[in-house]
Amino acid sequence: MSGNIWLLNMADWLREGGLKVEEYPGWQTRSRSSGGYDAVWAIGVHHTASNTTPANDLNYMLNNADAKPIGALYLSRDGTVTVCAAGATNTQGKGGPYKTSKGTIPKDAGNRYMLSIEAANAGTGEQWPEVQQVAYAKMCHVLVTKLGLNWGDIVAHFEWTNRKYDPAGNSKYATGGALWDMDKFRGDCWLAYADTEDVPEPPPPPPAPEPDLPNPPPSDDVTAVDPVEWYIKKGDTPWGVASTCYGDGSKHTELDASAFNSYSTASKPVFTAIPGVAGVRGEVEIGEGVASIIRRLTNTTAWPSAEMFDTFADFNGGGARNFNPGDVVHYPK
Ligand SMILES: [Zn+2]
Repeated sequence: MSGNIWLLNMADWLREGGLKVEEYPGWQTRSRSSGGYDAVWAIGVHHTASNTTPANDLNYMLNNADAKPIGALYLSRDGTVTVCAAGATNTQGKGGPYKTSKGTIPKDAGNRYMLSIEAANAGTGEQWPEVQQVAYAKMCHVLVTKLGLNWGDIVAHFEWTNRKYDPAGNSKYATGGALWDMDKFRGDCWLAYADTEDVPEPPPPPPAPEPDLPNPPPSDDVTAVDPVEWYIKKGDTPWGVASTCYGDGSKHTELDASAFNSYSTASKPVFTAIPGVAGVRGEVEIGEGVASIIRRLTNTTAWPSAEMFDTFADFNGGGARNFNPGDVVHYPK
């Protein structure tokens, strides 16, 4: 049996996340003999147990090791990420079974289900440079988000098998040569972009360029829904969404907290139901601007009010989102 999942977007994802990325020649077609992943259900966190140059590490991992390729990604001490293999690698070895948010990885099948990162560190108490620690959390944040995983799906090699002792060493997560406190590391992965300013939202559209329609725009393909759904964007929290929808953050218990573990991208919308709030659902049509979408959803002729633009933005991913034909949109009643 061979897997058929190849992670060909890894380099782009990591660059988008602001990481310094290099691509090892041939990475797009590199894998262990089983080919691509069966599924990607976890991120394997490792150190190399070596103290040499990135070039030597990579040559060993990808060319010289008997078990090559080892490591889908390599993180050097200066925080540069090298993309090594789009297919599955021989990094995890025997271990498990291991429960993830997507399912249980079968015993000894870690290589088929885990995307593994090798970070340069001797593993004998060598201090991890700050820039490398920050990059490690950021790359895990990007991968968890892009792959639709949960923070708990970031797994140390020593959590997969008691044969292994990585990652370890002096850092925010351990002193001396001790094993890393993985819950602290997972927390930092979650928070990796918390101090980054979101893209500022553009000002609301000017109130004139689109003439009012003589009649209400067609309300075709608009469906009443109860409950209405909310498109989860980066930074949304159950508390914040409850504050907006119910006027009371403490009502966040009405919401499905697990839906907030990942947020929407253009390729992977994540919606969550807002119990108790009815609304409408439609799809963006070719050539429609936000004002037209709002008028169609609300079956009104007039130019939408600023409040209507705000409500639409709240429920549909923020004012900075670009809409494409076919995108599913919601508006509360
Ligand atoms: Zn390892």
